Amino acid sequence: MASVHKLYEFDYSSGTIKLKNRKCPRCGSVMAHHKQPEERYHCGKCGYTEFVRARRKGSRGKG
Ligand SMILES: [Zn+2]
Repeated sequence: MASVHKLYEFDYSSGTIKLKNRKCPRCGSVMAHHKQPEERYHCGKCGYTEFVRARRKGSRGKG
């Protein structure tokens, strides 16, 4: 009983299916997601790497 739907994630709350991993803008294959040491997506086919920009929220300014 092997599942072939591991690449996809079903959101029960919104009822939508989305792809877990990103697709490579270069060759279009599914990229691998790495969290260490830096969060990024990496394509094993062509070697394309895309870093995830950590978005700062709630920035506080002085005075
Ligand atoms: Zn690629």
